[in-house]
Amino acid sequence: MAVDYDNENIFARILRNEIPCSKIYEDEHALAFEDINPQAPIHVLVIPKGPNVSMDDFCENASDEEIAGFLRAAGKCAQLLDLAAPGYRIVTNIGRDGMQEVPHLHLHIFGGKKLGRMLRADG
Ligand code: 5GP
Repeated sequence: MAVDYDNENIFARILRNEIPCSKIYEDEHALAFEDINPQAPIHVLVIPKGPNVSMDDFCENASDEEIAGFLRAAGKCAQLLDLAAPGYRIVTNIGRDGMQEVPHLHLHIFGGKKLGRMLRADG
């Protein structure tokens, strides 16, 4: 089912080059850039180029080529950031309970230090 997509969300505007970003990687399926408010020494966002809000929307409505290309781009970014050996974490926040701020699918890549437990106990 198609999901309403806000063409004016910040990541859509970054994709249209209306807002600058600190680019890490780009190919036909994905763009990766540094998070403006980093939560770890390395904090990069990877976004697909299509108008998809969430992982469930993306997996239902994007093509197999777009899905494979997006995931490959995330793996490529981890390599480019030299995170494969020390390790890293990928997170995607979805919707209200996931506390998603920007309604365009994005993977957070965190690294550069020991990241601690996956979820804090105080939520
Ligand atoms: P969410 O909470 O939706 O999973 O994550 C949104 C992320 O986007 C946040 O980590 C926030 O710091 C980042 N962000 C919001 N606006 C901008 C922006 O204009 N540029 C960049 N590079 N990151 C942004």
